[in-house]
Amino acid sequence: MPTIGNDIGHGSDTFDRSGGKGVIVNGKVYEEHSFNSRVAVALAKHLKRCGIGEKRIQQPNKPEVSLSRRTDLYNAENVDAVLSNHANANSNKSVKGICVFAWHNHPESQRLQKLLIEEYEKMGFDTHGNGDHESEIGSWTDLHIVRETKMTACLIENGFMTNPEDFKKIFLTPSYAEKCAEAQARALCRFFNKKYISVASTHSEEEEEMIKKAVVVYSDADLSVGYDLANEKKCAVYNRKSLANEELTINELMVVGGPNDGLEKKTNRVIDLSGSNRWETRKKVISYLGK
Ligand SMILES: [Zn+2]
Repeated sequence: MPTIGNDIGHGSDTFDRSGGKGVIVNGKVYEEHSFNSRVAVALAKHLKRCGIGEKRIQQPNKPEVSLSRRTDLYNAENVDAVLSNHANANSNKSVKGICVFAWHNHPESQRLQKLLIEEYEKMGFDTHGNGDHESEIGSWTDLHIVRETKMTACLIENGFMTNPEDFKKIFLTPSYAEKCAEAQARALCRFFNKKYISVASTHSEEEEEMIKKAVVVYSDADLSVGYDLANEKKCAVYNRKSLANEELTINELMVVGGPNDGLEKKTNRVIDLSGSNRWETRKKVISYLGK
């Protein structure tokens, strides 16, 4: 079974320590790490279904693991490929789109890079330029994760946090991270010559387990705390409208913001974490997580 290094860009403390790797919009902090984590967690689910293993050293919502520790682990474990998930930033707010970095003279990395861009384009996502960036020593493209890995490695920038359109997708559209992960899983299956197994074609125990728990948010104001909770509980996030359209029963539904009305139909058990405002809701979620 092929195994990848499922690399989550940065850590939960990166923004606090550096003031970078995130954006502040309307006084609220949106951290790159939380998006990167969501993509990696979703990717792991797709890979498992498709028979591809993963190694992770940086965990979601945990302090940053240094780049050298990351590449040392991937090299020691001799994984078959490394995918590092990120979101980009630029002082020019109009710059947008997805791009994939691969080392300039590593043909296998470039083969995966090409497959990734193709699968993102099939999803209908825009690329930054033609989407591929060749990494070279001594230039701005000289990225540790693609340089120091002995094997195939690609670093993906899933859009620009600083562009209003991309920002909306990255931080306010729960399905976007999921679709990025699916594009990556499809590309990896082609890379390893494996058949991609879609969610719809499987009704395994694992799939049923996936809806044991879910988080539902009331408005965008509750999304970031909703994501934090979902990352801890390893489950999906829905907004009211998307949940209403889903044909599923959830065993335990954690309600983050808003009333519980009508949600009983969707779940066996409502866990009410809504406060009378978003700050109270956040407090309730934190105390529920025992922090
Ligand atoms: Zn990054």
